[in-house]
Amino acid sequence: MADPDIVVVGAGIIGVACALQLARQGQRVVVMDPQPPGMGASYGNAGHLASEQVFPIADASILKRLPAMLLDPMGPLRLDWRYLPRALPWFARLLLNLRPASYQRTVAGLRTLNEGSLGAWQRLLHSIGHEALLREDGSLLVFEQAESRGALDALRQRMQQQQVPVDAWSRDTIRHAVPQLSERIQGGLFFPATGHFLDPYRVVCALVTAAKACGVQFLQRKVLDGRVQAHGVSLSTDLGTLHASQVLIACGAHSAKLTHALTGKKVPLDTERGYHLMLPHEHNRLPFAVTSLERKFIMTPMEGGLRLAGTVEFAGLERPANMARAWQLHRLSQGLFRQDLNVQGATPWMGLRPSLPDSLPIIDRVCDGKVLLAFGHQHLGLTQAAVTAERIGQLVLSRDTPIDAPYCLSRFK
Ligand SMILES: Cc1cc2nc3c(=O)[nH]c(=O)nc-3n(C[C@H](O)[C@H](O)[C@H](O)COP(=O)(O)OP(=O)(O)OC[C@H]3O[C@@H](n4cnc5c(N)ncnc54)[C@H](O)[C@@H]3O)c2cc1C
Repeated sequence: MADPDIVVVGAGIIGVACALQLARQGQRVVVMDPQPPGMGASYGNAGHLASEQVFPIADASILKRLPAMLLDPMGPLRLDWRYLPRALPWFARLLLNLRPASYQRTVAGLRTLNEGSLGAWQRLLHSIGHEALLREDGSLLVFEQAESRGALDALRQRMQQQQVPVDAWSRDTIRHAVPQLSERIQGGLFFPATGHFLDPYRVVCALVTAAKACGVQFLQRKVLDGRVQAHGVSLSTDLGTLHASQVLIACGAHSAKLTHALTGKKVPLDTERGYHLMLPHEHNRLPFAVTSLERKFIMTPMEGGLRLAGTVEFAGLERPANMARAWQLHRLSQGLFRQDLNVQGATPWMGLRPSLPDSLPIIDRVCDGKVLLAFGHQHLGLTQAAVTAERIGQLVLSRDTPIDAPYCLSRFK
């Protein structure tokens, strides 16, 4: 096999979307992943095109919640005590990033990507003939407790200040639009410019098919190490060494090691593990994705049933999944509907969100253009995949394309 122009490491939604973009620009592309495409976090996410989420992943109240995070194994936010020493420096950075200047930079960076996300997805899905995979029906955030009204109003104002399209929905409006929801719902916020995918895994598969048709080769290999050389990069894998002119690191939560090997930079990448419970017998319960403010999880109608998803668990990359957390999502749903959900045949799942402490991804070109980076999309990797692919395409097309400061590797000293 002739050396490819670009090796993409990681066949998640980010790697696959970028591989297709680069192949369409005329590059010879190889994608390497030890798993079949789309089996990482991109397999089981909540499928929400969450362009309304323009604020950092946590606020200072995370400190107050630390004891509960350690003590309650079923809480929405969980920290495995064995992981505490590894997590603390990341939490410290997260808090530092809540200082006004960093906070503003995060919000501006998220807004730029999110505002471009729907258009980029429309272009990408149209180009592969799969527009129907995305429903542009909006999404709803609901609350049940009277005392949550203030928090919801404040959130709406903050979102409006950031030009996020948002409508306040009364209890009656919700009852009319989603009659299946329980009487307990007091009101909510509707986000008209958002949507959901019918099956995030099928989105990856559709992109893989299109990429293969453009000549992209998919190799089932794990990249173990890498070196930047005079004329490109050399990558050692579990099945031998490969050379290429450029490499794109897009292996989600596993991207830190290879980034260090190739660039010498340590990135504070951690994982926020999340869970889903897929209910295959639940169809037509919801017209669009609905999130509960107090219960802190999302329910998305998909072609394979209703997906309950969410929760954040800090326990690193290696610990086995605690599927009790996925089943907990069913308990959380109880009381939200007039009639309980059918859990017959339900399947639990856990995935690794790739998260940096400033809530922004790295989308960059370093080492004289030989190393490209696209990882760290935290809760928004599906939302931002198409727009990320367009940016990576521009960085490869022209060396003159400026790097956007909020997404550059060098922001981590
Ligand atoms: C419960 C949950 C709900 C979510 N909901 C949403 C949502 O509604 N909307 C949204 O926008 N986002 C959501 N996300 C986040 C989103 O799923 C991720 O941000 C996104 O999938 C990350 O994509 P990725 O391609 O970077 O990583 P991944 O999909 O994890 O892919 C990385 C790939 O790299 C491979 N890899 C790892 N190491 C190596 C190596 N050494 N060599 C080669 N390959 C390697 C892995 O096998 C994997 O296939 C959710 C996540 C979770 C867990």
